[in-house]
Amino acid sequence: MSTTCAENSIFVFMKRLTHLTYTFCFLLLWSAVSAQKRPNIVIIISDDHAYQTIGAYGSTTGHTPQIDRIANGGAVFNRAYVTNSICGPSRATLLTGKYSHINGFKDNETSNFDHGQDTFLKQLTKNGYKTAWIGKIHLGNNLQGVTDYDILVGQGHYFNSDFISPQGTVRSEGYVSDVVTDKALTWLKTHHDDPFCIVIGHKATHRTWMPDPQDFGKNDDKEFTLPATFYDNYEGRPAAAQQEMSIAKHLRMGYDLKMYDSVEQMRKSGNFKRMTDAQFQAYVDYYRPIYEELKQKNLSGKALAEWKYKRYMIDYLNTAESMDRNIGRVLDYLEENNLEDNTLVLYLSDQGFYMGEHGWFDKRWMYEESFRTPMIAKLPGVIRPHSTIDNMVMNIDLAPTFLELAGVAVPKDMQGQSILPLWKGEKKDIRKAAYYHYYENGEHAVSPHFGVSDGRYKLIRFYKRVDGWEFYDLQSDPSELKNVYDDPKYKKEVERMKKLLKAEATKYKDTEALQLLR
Ligand code: CA
Repeated sequence: MSTTCAENSIFVFMKRLTHLTYTFCFLLLWSAVSAQKRPNIVIIISDDHAYQTIGAYGSTTGHTPQIDRIANGGAVFNRAYVTNSICGPSRATLLTGKYSHINGFKDNETSNFDHGQDTFLKQLTKNGYKTAWIGKIHLGNNLQGVTDYDILVGQGHYFNSDFISPQGTVRSEGYVSDVVTDKALTWLKTHHDDPFCIVIGHKATHRTWMPDPQDFGKNDDKEFTLPATFYDNYEGRPAAAQQEMSIAKHLRMGYDLKMYDSVEQMRKSGNFKRMTDAQFQAYVDYYRPIYEELKQKNLSGKALAEWKYKRYMIDYLNTAESMDRNIGRVLDYLEENNLEDNTLVLYLSDQGFYMGEHGWFDKRWMYEESFRTPMIAKLPGVIRPHSTIDNMVMNIDLAPTFLELAGVAVPKDMQGQSILPLWKGEKKDIRKAAYYHYYENGEHAVSPHFGVSDGRYKLIRFYKRVDGWEFYDLQSDPSELKNVYDDPKYKKEVERMKKLLKAEATKYKDTEALQLLR
């Protein structure tokens, strides 16, 4: 019996060992497969690209078949907001997952980005990803913690831009959207076999909207409907009344609209000086007849304002053509190299932009057109194709999203929330409010302000240039024309939103805002 017992024990032991071996082998195999399967991340960030001009957002004037292609394979975010609606600060938030007052980059005019701080790209690099930022970043030139970078100097130029990489500064001849994409594709070709994360930063569609000559004429014959708020009188909104971003008054005839009194004057102007003769000639051929026609018409008042609006729309949309086409080259590349199924492609702008609403161009405000950014994401097997996401998300949520997707622990001091549970259908909401703080107090004369939106109501506190409160009911007043802060009907809601504002400022450690809320 004891022999049988011993035999049994050996049998049980062997069986367990076999089971353990199997388990061990399975785990090894699983970890190898999952390591191999870590998703690639392609982030395409444009500059000042308005959702009002993107087909996937219902635009009837914008021609964006390639951005729409991302939407067809994935999800369109209808409520993606930014923490601070301006170029550099938005990219700093994207990189760090932190508000401007924490990452230190509050405005384009006075801030310097400290590249020594933690970023999602650094975390990915540390955890085995090959990483790169190619194109516009607008946060200084000394990137850290990325495998490679090749970035535009400052704002960059539409033609023959200078790029900085660790090897130095090189001028790359050609149109900026093409050059940035060429560089991105070259980088991708050498990093196929690793999990990779690349940020492709486009200059388009930033001022001064200079199209690739091959796109001249593509949007010129369209009918543009003047936005209903184009002749806004800014009643009850003193900050809006003081701005300097109106199409009628502040869009410049030469610099913005390319209407120079002479060809010689045009050639001497900054953006044209760096062009080759052939590039410049293409601009002369296209813009001089428009100038001559304008001179003959001798427009003034509303007729001139509306002419400017139309020319602004045409230049803007013609500029977007090249960017969209180049986004298509990246999508083609992923498809042709069987990378599509395991790659997150996320398209966003650094903020929204005004296409004549309230009479404006530019951004900065916590009003919807600039507070909201287009954001579209595609990841087969995770994000449902042809879907829309109406839940509130912010650009601060992206850094934690990328890390969670890559299986990297999200550092505790990142302030955003991963969007991944929304994509996977595990959570209904990741946030109930969007907190905002705009600091720059210079170009375009927009008063600094901070505020909170819960999707239905929006409370804004202006300070420095204008001192005052605004309150909007987004349901009854989606264009934000009626400031109902002093309306007794909204007293209860205003009080509730003030509490929410204080709670959000406290949560995000915004001491400057809290000082003003005392
Ligand atoms: Ca921008």
